Amino acid sequence: MSVEEVDSFERFALAEPVLRAVRDVGYEQPSPIQAQAIPPLLEGRDLLGQAQTGTGKTAAFALPLLSRLDLTRRVPQLLVLAPTRELAIQVAEATKTYARHLPDFHVLPVYGGQGMGAQLRGLSRGAHVVVGTPGRILDHLRRGTLVLGGLVAVVLDEADEMLRMGFIEDVEAILAATPQGRQTALFSATMPREVHRIAQSYLRDPVEIRIESRTTTVEAIRQRYWQVRDLHKLDALTRILEGEDFDAMIVFVRTRTETTGLAEKLEARGYDAAPLSGDMQQAERERTVDRLRQGRLDILVATDVAARGLDVPRISHVVNYDIPTDTEAYVHRIGRTGRAGRKGEAILFVSPREKRMLYAIERATGQRIEPMQLPSREDIADRRIDRFKGLITETIETAELDFFEALVADYQRAHDVGLSEIAAALAYLLQREQPLVVDGAAARVDAHPAEPVRAEAAESAPRPRQRREGAPPAQPRSEGAPAERPRRERRPGPEVPMERYRIEVGREHGVQPKNIVGAIANEAGLESRYIGRIEINDDHTLLDLPEGMPKEVFKHLKTVWVCGRQLRINRAAEPGGHRRRSED
Ligand code: AMP
Repeated sequence: MSVEEVDSFERFALAEPVLRAVRDVGYEQPSPIQAQAIPPLLEGRDLLGQAQTGTGKTAAFALPLLSRLDLTRRVPQLLVLAPTRELAIQVAEATKTYARHLPDFHVLPVYGGQGMGAQLRGLSRGAHVVVGTPGRILDHLRRGTLVLGGLVAVVLDEADEMLRMGFIEDVEAILAATPQGRQTALFSATMPREVHRIAQSYLRDPVEIRIESRTTTVEAIRQRYWQVRDLHKLDALTRILEGEDFDAMIVFVRTRTETTGLAEKLEARGYDAAPLSGDMQQAERERTVDRLRQGRLDILVATDVAARGLDVPRISHVVNYDIPTDTEAYVHRIGRTGRAGRKGEAILFVSPREKRMLYAIERATGQRIEPMQLPSREDIADRRIDRFKGLITETIETAELDFFEALVADYQRAHDVGLSEIAAALAYLLQREQPLVVDGAAARVDAHPAEPVRAEAAESAPRPRQRREGAPPAQPRSEGAPAERPRRERRPGPEVPMERYRIEVGREHGVQPKNIVGAIANEAGLESRYIGRIEINDDHTLLDLPEGMPKEVFKHLKTVWVCGRQLRINRAAEPGGHRRRSED
């Protein structure tokens, strides 16, 4: 795997501050449309580009045209016309990002449905770039509040959409109000006759770009997509991690910054994940890939560049967390799975705006990508229970159990309880580290467990095979919390000397009592009824726990993550050790 020969933005004659902004954003290499559009636009040529959202076309025109601005003139020099207010806002925001190091730069979004006042103030203050919907732009032109005499370039974004929405006449009226010698770029996902006519009338000798998608077949790989809706992509990914049988997985994101951000979030949720990006040293990248190969790591969060050529047969799943910028990148990505004659799974996250890219990928691969449902909480609970039952069967079949059978028989004689009750207690102890039931989901088992199954911290809890070594220690040996209690005494909670602790997660981090109870019960091996009063403050929480917490439990709890923060537990400053009755 080598990233040295990879194309870079440095080869373009972009203005230095613009290049710096691209570095900040973390794009590793130009997308195909950028590679083809940036040089001619920098030269001042007109451009006709067939490209859809998701290909990186905003940067394809914004980077070169921002590089050509004269910042000393605070008049509109670049006008971008977009069909919808959402796209206008999106383009204005992207422009702002790419122009962040340009001194005293101003971009103004202008669209219908927004009050005139703010737009008029913005226009009178002056802006270098105006991004707007055709109707509202024309309105300002007619009022004389927008003057386009100083314009250097015009971009028509999603021209076919503007046509479909009946804006073409407005677009032509606006173009007529711009200087003759301006530069023009027209982007359109499709090229209907009317768009072609506009191109012929208003573009001078344009460079034509069309991102050809080569047909490639990837038959060993099942391809599915999930339509991004209200659930956050991170939560969707967590469900997939729980609900799918995977060996190793690559999760693709767009930027280097995201590789580390997402890998950290997955680690905080208990998964063995690591980033892989082009700005890591070659040796470090190889070490990370080796860890994946040897099974010491299960998830890589990677960019396209870093994962190029990666060949690790145990990769069973590829998740396209961010949709790729072109169909070829998609084919490269999913080709990381289904290797060495194995079957592979590819999952693509698609937002409504990215639907066209989905269709483009289907055309390029000649295969249909099936919509998928995320596993529900109930499904996940079922899977956990199935796994748990499977573990029991496997242990009975393979483990040397004589000693434990004798131990259980001995216990049964001494305590006069049924075998099923002993088994239930042992099962309870085992699942405490990994609750079987996910937050809010009903457990689909017939039995009535002796203790309610703790559910709250489920979605952030590690899976059994990813448990950190030596993590959840045994129940604290406080005098009131004996390991073997006769069942009848379990409710209400016993008299326990309590001590007050402080943890560094609070309201502003979004914590709720259930998160704290779940995490502490799981990680300290403490039944929830031994967790006393919880007082959530803005940036920390005070809570009562049984006195005499063992040192190793205390040390471990310091490192436990709740709501993206480590608990960093400490005894509370004020004398908190007071005798009280713990609550249920
Ligand atoms: P667009 O097609 O302009 O809507 O861009 C789609 C997405 O691609 C945006 O989230 C951009 O931030 C991202 N993007 C643009 N160029 C690149 C690139 N060279 N590498 C990675 N991501 C990019």
